[in-house]
Amino acid sequence: MLPDSSLRDMVVCYDNALIAARNPVTAEIYTYNFPTRIRFGAGARTELSQTLTQLGIHRPLIVTDRDVVTLPWFSELPAALTSPVAMFSGVWGNPVVSQVEAGLAAWRDHGADGIIAIGGGAPMDVAKAIALMANHPGHLFDYEDGKPDGRPVDQPVPSIVAIPTTAGTGSEVGRSTVISDDQTHAKKIMFDPKLLPAVVLADPDLLLGLPAGITAATGMDALTHLIEAYLAKGCHPICDGIALEGIGLVSQHLTTCVQFARRLQGGESLSPEEHQAHLTARGGMLNASMMGAIAFQKGLGVTHSCAHALSTVCNTHHGLANGVMLSAAMRFNIVTEGDRFLRMARVVNPLATSGYQFLEWIDSLRMGIGIPGTLTELEVSSNVLDKLVMVAEQDGCHPLNPRPVTRDDFYAIYQDALGVAP
Ligand SMILES: [Zn+2]
Repeated sequence: MLPDSSLRDMVVCYDNALIAARNPVTAEIYTYNFPTRIRFGAGARTELSQTLTQLGIHRPLIVTDRDVVTLPWFSELPAALTSPVAMFSGVWGNPVVSQVEAGLAAWRDHGADGIIAIGGGAPMDVAKAIALMANHPGHLFDYEDGKPDGRPVDQPVPSIVAIPTTAGTGSEVGRSTVISDDQTHAKKIMFDPKLLPAVVLADPDLLLGLPAGITAATGMDALTHLIEAYLAKGCHPICDGIALEGIGLVSQHLTTCVQFARRLQGGESLSPEEHQAHLTARGGMLNASMMGAIAFQKGLGVTHSCAHALSTVCNTHHGLANGVMLSAAMRFNIVTEGDRFLRMARVVNPLATSGYQFLEWIDSLRMGIGIPGTLTELEVSSNVLDKLVMVAEQDGCHPLNPRPVTRDDFYAIYQDALGVAP
């Protein structure tokens, strides 16, 4: 009989070999026609011009953010287009209505007939909101999801081609847009299947220059989507399966992405083999991020409610807020969801015997990629606790959390994350 350690090595090697076989190095471009048309692989961005032609877009508007326009590869994209193109790059931070209105003015000035959304979650969301308002009257928030006297999305919505540059929100495969009020910072969700981009050009090449901090924070957002979707109330085995595979991809690739990003930031250059390994890891996270967004059609949970409140009250980056809150929120959830935690633990360690090993894995991942362990390290103090709890309680995510969350529970979870005894 084999000793335990040999058995473990064999199982882990076998598992890694299976994962490698399923996720080959991105040497060619693959097509996934789910949940929309996705062209995935290094160089997918070079198909932009033909994609616009296929969609019948003749006057595209590029929607992006202030940072993306400064990246070295960015100028190649409009230069490769034969159609007259205009650009709106007035997106930054958490997207607000005034950015959508400015983008809509650019859309009208150009007489645009389609959108190219390039960037992370913020430009994707602004692009969807511009597309929504292109042919619909009134104010954007008239179309808020679930608003009792809301207006219907009953007019054509122009096509969007999405080119993601981060692996976090997965907004490129989502059917909703989240925009904040300029004054109150309250987030509103507009949802309609017509907001789903017509084509996603998912090109891991574009993620190779992401700094380590952004890679870690956006990666934790993707992981939180996957975990919360898997745990969310309701029966949805399709989303559950996608979520579990996505967690496996995060466990395989996130730390590698951050390690390569740190080396590049330190001025090191990578060997051709290391460059390829970096590209594969970025591709793994790009897939995981899209899988998170697909899976959370099932729902999210208490981590996101806490994170949304941190963004509203303290302007904390969304992914970072999730990354810091995740452990405390999952310590709360494991009490009633032991079986589901064991299932997730076995994705990251096939020999796991307890769901608590999944909590240990989250903590070691978080520490390894440099995400703080407490809110105190983000300079969030207990002075804002009442406000955080008030906003989190009103958030729409926690009603689908598997364990009901009371006001006292929110206090306890935040106190846990602050590192103070309740
Ligand atoms: Zn999120």
